[in-house]
Amino acid sequence: MTCPNCQQSMEPGLVDIHPTVASILIYGAQREHLWFSSTAAGPETIELILNEDDKSEAFCCRPCGLVLFRSVSLAAERPKK
Ligand SMILES: [Zn+2]
Repeated sequence: MTCPNCQQSMEPGLVDIHPTVASILIYGAQREHLWFSSTAAGPETIELILNEDDKSEAFCCRPCGLVLFRSVSLAAERPKK
């Protein structure tokens, strides 16, 4: 895949959410989620992107730092064609 930001080649991989040993020691074992807050739709529009147990295919552009991935939660809400 080509990066839409800088047109360099993107590296395939996976994204997930998990605590580090340090965060478990400091904050304890707690569930974490990734959220998307739309700046176009207003601050009340917050959508769940990834649950702690989700893994999603992703592409990373190391030159500019852009990471693209499909939200497991949003993809599940899309109507089937
Ligand atoms: Zn890039």
